Amino acid sequence: MKNENKWDAVVVDRALAALKFASLGEEVGFSWYGCDLCGTELGGDRHHVTHANDGPFSRVYCCTDCALYMANGDTPEGYEEA
Ligand SMILES: [Zn+2]
Repeated sequence: MKNENKWDAVVVDRALAALKFASLGEEVGFSWYGCDLCGTELGGDRHHVTHANDGPFSRVYCCTDCALYMANGDTPEGYEEA
């Protein structure tokens, strides 16, 4: 079974590596917009992630799990590195 909503640091690291000067922006509240870093499509709180790929004020959205990972290096509860 495909487990597409499982958070994976490898996926997030890869998404972050593709963004130039990625940094965590403000919280934007609840959204059904998927997370651009881990790819979750579950609704939840979203944060902006600013980057410079398409100009100085480009941004994507990330979920709280990814935001905490970016801010502190914390992985979500229950996450085990493969
Ligand atoms: Zn995420």
